[in-house]
Amino acid sequence: MPLPSPQTILRRLGLRPKKSLGQNFLLHAHQARRIVDALDLQPHDVVLEIGPGLGALTVLLAERAALVIALEVDLSLADYLEQEVFAGSPRVRLIREDVLRFDIAALSREVGRPVKIAGNLPYHITSPLLFKLMEDKGVLTLAVLMVQEEVGDRLLARPGGKDYGILSVMAQYHFRLTRQFSLGPGNFYPPPQVSSVVLKLEPAAPELRAEDEQIFAKVVKTAFAQRRKTLKNTLAAQGPAFGLPPGDLLNILKEAGIDPGRRAESLSVAQFVKLSNSICEKMKTDRAG
Ligand code: SAM
Repeated sequence: MPLPSPQTILRRLGLRPKKSLGQNFLLHAHQARRIVDALDLQPHDVVLEIGPGLGALTVLLAERAALVIALEVDLSLADYLEQEVFAGSPRVRLIREDVLRFDIAALSREVGRPVKIAGNLPYHITSPLLFKLMEDKGVLTLAVLMVQEEVGDRLLARPGGKDYGILSVMAQYHFRLTRQFSLGPGNFYPPPQVSSVVLKLEPAAPELRAEDEQIFAKVVKTAFAQRRKTLKNTLAAQGPAFGLPPGDLLNILKEAGIDPGRRAESLSVAQFVKLSNSICEKMKTDRAG
């Protein structure tokens, strides 16, 4: 079943889709339902929706959740939703704010429970948003996000390929990620340049916990900084950046059984964690000595 036509609504409102805000509106109700189904909503759930747009997902979320907090930066669309679609609805609260500046932990405290997150994401904010959700994973139970297929491939990539990088390691450390389904450009108005994929992110206890997650993130970023180079020339050369004498990181790599001639893209998430924990240990013993 088609949704009320985005073209028609926008024309009536005297608006055009804004490329700068990543506005590609869903055209089909059954696709919206598949996204909302993946959230497995319970009547007590509170959902934070990123970019409700013309409300394609919001309407369904409001049918199934206790409360939907819809964050929209486009003031014209927020006014439309508030005044024409959800006027008087106690279940939908429009907030005119950039999700990247929104305090998810404060929302969770206010509603007294962790929240679920949904969104057909404006593609330009995907990476910063994912890093934000990693920080906020303690206050969310589940996120279902539509991202560019190419970003989805990077998020799900296994070690060894060109897609495997900082985003893959960090996301897979913090979340259990599953691919739900893909959607071609023809499912949106206006059609984007590329295909999209819906992913489910569940905060997960990692196989191996990093003693210090900031050091872990720094190890991953340093190792991938020049991905064509070997660890000997990237990470191992950066001892002083971790407050360690030059040469220490080379020894740590060898002690961890990781050949310094390898590249970052060949290391598993668990190996990055082990490495960062060994670096933390060394930093501690150096400080104590
Ligand atoms: N949910 C609608 C749908 O599926 O049809 C619209 C999705 S559209 C891809 C992305 C929406 O996010 C747009 O409505 C856009 O205005 C909004 N948006 C863009 N940047 C945002 C930001 N930083 N914070 C919150 N919303 C944003």
